Amino acid sequence: MSPIDREKAIVFDIQRFSIHDGPGIRTSVFLKGCPLSCEWCHNPEAQNKNPRLMYKNSLCRKCGLCISACEQGVHTFDASGNHIVNFDFCKISGQCIKTCCYEALSISGTWYSVDELLEEIKSDFPYFKIGNEGGVTFTGGEPMLWSEFIAAFAEIAKDISICIETSGYAPTKAFKDVLPKIDMFLFDWKITNKEKHVKYCGASNELILENLKFLHEQGANIILRLPIIPGVNDDDEHFLGIAKIMHDFNSIIAAEILPYHSIGKSKVEWFGLKNQKMFSVPTQDQKLFWLKRLKELGVKNILLT
Ligand code: SF4
Ligand code: SF4
Repeated sequence: MSPIDREKAIVFDIQRFSIHDGPGIRTSVFLKGCPLSCEWCHNPEAQNKNPRLMYKNSLCRKCGLCISACEQGVHTFDASGNHIVNFDFCKISGQCIKTCCYEALSISGTWYSVDELLEEIKSDFPYFKIGNEGGVTFTGGEPMLWSEFIAAFAEIAKDISICIETSGYAPTKAFKDVLPKIDMFLFDWKITNKEKHVKYCGASNELILENLKFLHEQGANIILRLPIIPGVNDDDEHFLGIAKIMHDFNSIIAAEILPYHSIGKSKVEWFGLKNQKMFSVPTQDQKLFWLKRLKELGVKNILLT
């Protein structure tokens, strides 16, 4: 990567007034790309690092203008008049988007330099000052893929609190490099059983545990985030693993249960994703049971989000 590239990243969303992504009122910046492939991922379009075409059938008026605009043959209608999008042919030229008057087409993922990102979010700064706790949270995807960008952003946004929401699956050196500039890590612990972690997330959890240990030893502020997926990790093996982590790394500030939700479902259509799995959405009783069970196992400072 050239020095210039290090100061650019692909952003696929910016959400303002977030109150669940770290302390205070925050602007969440979603960076594209992830080395994991969690089956329950609610941003599956973000796993690939490259920009991707997005098509919303609910907004499409079937005018057909995109068909002639696209030289790659991405858009066609079938015999019944349904709009078929061949996402795999798309070269992200953006020609079809220019012709669509109904905002049915867009690109997810835009290159930003650190200066452009600062310019984009500087109108949010007054909100960060409410309670003096707010700031920017980098999330994704896996934002640690862009650790040099985050470090460069922190250099020019010196007075802004910066948090990183991470799967923990990144080189330890990347964590070491950003650590002095980061106020808090929202660190996922997904599945305690190593084989199950490989099966459901596409990689082992060993590096993740090493990084959690490293951050803890360095005195980083850490919130442990716990995605709980019915039938995948809502069992005592995992809950005992969580209790052990909270015991062994006892300066972790708190743990947050993130119950599975099906928000990723609509994205299957928008991005033409294949093989996206769906799980059952937990009831309120299930969620409260998880909270109770983890407390019984000795986990303190735990809450349900
Ligand atoms: S241009 Fe837009 S509204 Fe018209 S067919 Fe294409 S996606 Fe649908
Ligand atoms: S780590 Fe997060 S972004 Fe990456 S695949 Fe898992 S849930 Fe999705």
